[in-house]
Amino acid sequence: MQTLNRNDGRYTTHNVKVDPSDLDYFAWSVPEGGFEVRRVFQVLGFNVERRPSSALVPRSQERRARLYDPLAETELFLKFADLPTSEEAILAFANVYGWLAGDEHFIASATAKSSPPIFGDSLSTWRGEIDAMRETIEVWEALRENNTKALRARINWFKGGVWYVGRRRQFIATPDLRSHLVGRRRQFIATPDLRSHLLSRWRRDEVVGPARMFIADQLNRGLQRKVSPRLVMDHSGTLQPRIVPSNLLGAVWYHFYRTFLGEHKIRRCEACGRWMLYIRKTKTMHPECANLTRQKRFRSRHAQETRKQ
Ligand SMILES: [Zn+2]
Repeated sequence: MQTLNRNDGRYTTHNVKVDPSDLDYFAWSVPEGGFEVRRVFQVLGFNVERRPSSALVPRSQERRARLYDPLAETELFLKFADLPTSEEAILAFANVYGWLAGDEHFIASATAKSSPPIFGDSLSTWRGEIDAMRETIEVWEALRENNTKALRARINWFKGGVWYVGRRRQFIATPDLRSHLVGRRRQFIATPDLRSHLLSRWRRDEVVGPARMFIADQLNRGLQRKVSPRLVMDHSGTLQPRIVPSNLLGAVWYHFYRTFLGEHKIRRCEACGRWMLYIRKTKTMHPECANLTRQKRFRSRHAQETRKQ
């Protein structure tokens, strides 16, 4: 271990103990003052949104931050996929692991002549990404379990094409953008106009091929412009090829990508039902769930014995 002084450009960090071989090429910072959710106006290009929206922003101007290595947290993408989309849950996660990217631009007032820029993540970005990861893992789980019924609920053949149908009912703008209706989000997998070569490969009503293509689309979107190959110089001065995320969002999708390629297996915890990485055959629960189960068993045995006396 070595003490490093780092500055990622946005926060001046103080001495953080890290293993330089892990952190030399990617570290993520969490402001020591934590985050808060504020109603602010999003700036998109030359336009400012007319209505305020909720965004996750650092709580103070204090620039001290804690650094850690998200690539060392292999289960992080599963924690992220399991995250409730409430403001409290997102805030609690961000206060431990940091913002997703922190590159969305907001201002506090849409009318003031000059309003200093505020950087953060909009909560709608968080919710969209949590849903995207959770739904992709669910499709993958259904594929691995040969659960055709679950796959048919998400993969629909419709008007000569094949689509993914989202789990959540939400407001969707009508094509003329004048109003919206409540429905499920549809994402094309292949249509006669787009990627028709895939349609000729699949039998009509097939779900396995389209489900695999959907997972690939999701992973590709998650990695695009957020993870890239780079050359990193190691301690001996040798250049090493490394795959490097540019933010936390890229890091979680990269973990998912590697797991999908077989680096790890996932399963559901026998105690809480949430996902976990399957490392050893004997590991059937999260360590914290195994602890709770042991304590519960101990307490009930203890209660029985006291009753007997
Ligand atoms: Zn558990």
